[in-house]
Amino acid sequence: MSVLVYTENWDGKFKKLSFELVSYAAGVAKLLNTTVAAVSIGRVEENELKKLGNYGAVKIISVNNDQLVSLDSQAYASVISEISVKEGASVIVFANNNTGKAVAPRVSVRLKAGVGSGVSRLPLNVDPFTVYKRTYSGNAFAHVIIKSAVKIITLAQNSFDLIETANNATIEILNISVDPSLLKTSVKDVQKQSGKIVLTDADIVVSGGRGMKSADNWSPLIELATLLGAATACSRPVSDEGWRPHDEHTGQTGKIIAPNLYIAVGISGATQHLAGISSSKYIVAINSDKDAPVFEAAQYGIVGDAMKVLPKLVAAVKEIKK
Ligand SMILES: Cc1cc2nc3c(=O)[nH]c(=O)nc-3n(C[C@H](O)[C@H](O)[C@H](O)COP(=O)(O)OP(=O)(O)OC[C@H]3O[C@@H](n4cnc5c(N)ncnc54)[C@H](O)[C@@H]3O)c2cc1C
Repeated sequence: MSVLVYTENWDGKFKKLSFELVSYAAGVAKLLNTTVAAVSIGRVEENELKKLGNYGAVKIISVNNDQLVSLDSQAYASVISEISVKEGASVIVFANNNTGKAVAPRVSVRLKAGVGSGVSRLPLNVDPFTVYKRTYSGNAFAHVIIKSAVKIITLAQNSFDLIETANNATIEILNISVDPSLLKTSVKDVQKQSGKIVLTDADIVVSGGRGMKSADNWSPLIELATLLGAATACSRPVSDEGWRPHDEHTGQTGKIIAPNLYIAVGISGATQHLAGISSSKYIVAINSDKDAPVFEAAQYGIVGDAMKVLPKLVAAVKEIKK
């Protein structure tokens, strides 16, 4: 019995998300009195693989063959299922992102495993195995009991702190070949956005709503984001109006994010917006209406005109950075 965690890499490098997943898996393993094996698929150098050991992986299984260079959910599910059986995994951890959402259900079908999706805490209980997740657009929480022998958890991003431990993990290189009939997709070309922080990966997000009044008023918000190393986001009406691109829209029908800091400028705090951002660690709201619902979701608030507050914030951050 062990806990298996699927760790994603980007061009052979792990990001904070991978370490968060391993830290979480180590926490689950501790509750079950077992150890963590981390699976990495794709070309990752040994030095990079070893980093997973710093967060609690005792064994690192690296699968690297030409069939698996880019994500194919069927093929990846087959490989992860095969390793799970070999390792006797009782719990398998994925990120609750696009990759996890594509692969985890397929592994679930293969292993007849129950899934707790979007989980944001360590299991509340291991017998019965009970996980905690937010539900109803973040307005309630659910305790979900997973009854199957193998359990799958997809972890909500940024919901678990990194926990470093001194560990000398062993690395096992596995050469698993995949049934070619499973390989349904192949990536021909990847065009990366340059100079822009990816919203779903960002630690800090500065977001604007209809209170920004027009597309022409965005420069102080962008300047603040640039100074803070933050991604920019917006509410749905803003992207509907064409003031900002659609890929910045957060909420129930947009991106679901969980940065450490979310600064909401001129956003009223409708439940459909909060559904996408309520897992943020800290929310700061800037709004001219002291009764705006966003202040109930925020830990810090500034009541004022965004056009006056933003330049002051920009100046203050510049002063601190001097
Ligand atoms: C099915 C459905 C799905 C939806 N999905 C989403 C979604 O995914 N994401 C989303 O965002 N919305 C979504 N919505 C829309 C949502 O209900 C709200 O209408 C929307 O979030 C409001 O956007 P807003 O806060 O930018 O605008 P408003 O509600 O118009 O709020 C603007 C705010 O700016 C403040 N303000 C005005 N002037 C200033 C100023 N000068 N300085 C500072 N503050 C100022 C106002 O006090 C107000 O609080 C959805 C709606 C439906 C029905």
